[in-house]
Amino acid sequence: MTYCLSHLATKVLWPVVILIFQVWQARCNGQTAGVNPFSGCQSNVTTHENGSTAAEVRVGVVPTVQLGNALGLIVGFGVFAALVALAFSLVRRFVYHDADNLDTAFDAGGKVSIGLTATTIVSQWTWSATLLQSATVASKYGISGPFWYAAGATIQVILFAILSIELKTKAPGAKTFLQVIKARFGTTTHVTFCVFAGFTNLVVTASLLLAGTAVLTSLVQGLSLELACMILSAVIGAYTLIGGLGATFYVSYFNTTLIFSMLLLLVIEVYYNPYENSRNPIGSSSKMYQFLDCINGPSGNEENSYLTFISSGGLMFGVINIVGNFGAVFCDQSYWQSSIAAKPIQGVWGFISGGLTWFAIPFTMATTMGLSYLALSADSGQALLTPTQIDQGLVPPLVAQKLLGTAGEFVMLMLILMAVMSTGSAEVIAVASIIIYDIYKTYINPYRKDIPESHCVLCGKDMTHECTCIPVTQCSACHEDVHEAHSTHKLGVKPFNKCTTHGLYREYLAMLLNYKSWCILWVTAFTIPLVLLCNAASLNLSWLYLFTGVLIGSTVIPISLSITWSRINAPGMVAGAVCGCILGLGSWLVTASQHEGGLSDFIQNTGKEDSMLVGNCVAIGSGGIICIVVSLITNRRFKSEDAVKEWEKTRNVDNPLNPWLHLYEDLPRENKDERPSHEEFLKIFRSAKITAYVAGIILSVVLIIIWPAIMAGLRVLNETMFIGWAYVSQVWAFLAAAFIISVPLVQEIWGIWRQYKRNKVKDMQEEKYAVPPQTKL
Ligand SMILES: [Zn+2]
Ligand SMILES: [Zn+2]
Repeated sequence: MTYCLSHLATKVLWPVVILIFQVWQARCNGQTAGVNPFSGCQSNVTTHENGSTAAEVRVGVVPTVQLGNALGLIVGFGVFAALVALAFSLVRRFVYHDADNLDTAFDAGGKVSIGLTATTIVSQWTWSATLLQSATVASKYGISGPFWYAAGATIQVILFAILSIELKTKAPGAKTFLQVIKARFGTTTHVTFCVFAGFTNLVVTASLLLAGTAVLTSLVQGLSLELACMILSAVIGAYTLIGGLGATFYVSYFNTTLIFSMLLLLVIEVYYNPYENSRNPIGSSSKMYQFLDCINGPSGNEENSYLTFISSGGLMFGVINIVGNFGAVFCDQSYWQSSIAAKPIQGVWGFISGGLTWFAIPFTMATTMGLSYLALSADSGQALLTPTQIDQGLVPPLVAQKLLGTAGEFVMLMLILMAVMSTGSAEVIAVASIIIYDIYKTYINPYRKDIPESHCVLCGKDMTHECTCIPVTQCSACHEDVHEAHSTHKLGVKPFNKCTTHGLYREYLAMLLNYKSWCILWVTAFTIPLVLLCNAASLNLSWLYLFTGVLIGSTVIPISLSITWSRINAPGMVAGAVCGCILGLGSWLVTASQHEGGLSDFIQNTGKEDSMLVGNCVAIGSGGIICIVVSLITNRRFKSEDAVKEWEKTRNVDNPLNPWLHLYEDLPRENKDERPSHEEFLKIFRSAKITAYVAGIILSVVLIIIWPAIMAGLRVLNETMFIGWAYVSQVWAFLAAAFIISVPLVQEIWGIWRQYKRNKVKDMQEEKYAVPPQTKL
């Protein structure tokens, strides 16, 4: 045992200590710059037969794609996405019979498979930044950059599996995480967190479109910024509107498939050069190694090499990335949406497999494109992009253009379109669902105004004593109403609902569904001025990406605790989020003001790694500590019996027309008409919960501590090690592609086939006994 511990200490902890020391040292030394780091390579590695010299090299991405071609490509994708969305609507209507239900529009019926959940996570988490910013950090810090980007954003998705299963067991009827907060802590806390959730969606959407427009305008001739914004938001709006979240599940699948195909294409071109492309000076891992080996890297890296994990800049980026992404995932309604849409156990495995698949995109993309940028720069003897262009995220488009010409430009255009489309639509739906469920339905125009939480929405009476409303499943008038709505009639409007208990509420939900469509339209249109504003303020992708955590980091721990800890209370939640945010912003500005030029050089100094690092860590840390301490102090009378009462509040969040009880019909239970109790739920999902906690924690420790520590222990990679490293990134991408392309397809076809057979059996039974049709409500 003692031997084991000391062994672990030397193998794992020591490299970590070295890393921390290096960061500190680099801060003291500052960066040395001035000499061209790429000058030493031409004579060593490259063989320039045509005798080109550094003077002839053009810096930057040249816009060569014709505007007409680009528009054609975009319109083609728009039409294709719309067709996919239409196919989804048809499947819902004719196979599952639940197309005109408000909840389906948001959560796809709550029965999404593992494969599709994973696909959605992958395409939703693939921001433009994933493709661009990861290559930026690779070109700045070398091989550690891609790893920190990928690992530092994968663990949040994997850990989200824990929140996903907790939400499913404690608030199975909730549609947004804010509804849980409202049910437990009341109005003030709810409003506070609505504001933070709004900020999150705003920052994510802005960074998404900012990067998207930067790439589009850099590649397409004569494309103005305004037109690029309009094109992107039109593409997002068009297919989101057609099929709600459900359509995004299907379109996500095609997006992910395309992203992985493009990624593999780039990997094969860079590392294997199968067509002997003369523009590609790399073509193998060992050639890549030779280029990287001769470049004079940043001073924070061990031996000034790009081939090391001991990199102060890389590590600092890694920490900011880990901290910042917690906010971007936990506080973003769109991830909660994916978890709500899946069955409990499928959700857990969906998030875990989605996280591991997604890892390949930034890791392999940046190990390929970011390092190729360094190699190409070394080949031509000078940096091919200015530092500003690198921060704009132009590394991948430049590499694609240099290596593959026009084909490469189209590959980049498609990748960016895919990233913007899927994440953009997920964000738009997330905002729309917050507006509909948490603002309109809660404050502006609730179905029944001023009733206490314990009263029935339908009749307004106390639920335990006075309410006599029958459950919707046993209501024969409702069966007739639904049957009437599904059968064809000759009137221009739908006939009135006859049910006196549920009829009006059914109409209220239909009205909300109609508002949702308008909401999506307005939110999409709003993205255009948002991006123009960000551009006018000259915010860049790197800045915005790192700033996310400073702004919303303080809410991460309060949000996680709101669904896992019964003792937390309203004062703790609000104090943690608000004070944490103020402290984060304050410490960020103070650190920035220490730099030369102070705050007058705002974007430059606030964007420095150390300002962002301090801001991010203070925000997440103080938010959590304040929240826990305040809850412990103000909620001292809390007893263990109160826990059950606390979770009963969240279990009451429900839609009376589509009670969550329905989602659990298949569970092995005796009394199927009564809600399973809290204890029963805990027992049923015990193994899923253990899986989520164990897998989440083990994978996180491996990804952000053990693996990087081992890499740091290797110090500077030699040729064999680097070839191994490049090989790992390629194999990961191939395996991930195989998984994400085959599994969702097989599962979905299987699901539709099973439902089709079930419908047939049901139809036959109905004919036999001639009972009214049991349409899904
Ligand atoms: Zn009632
Ligand atoms: Zn009814």
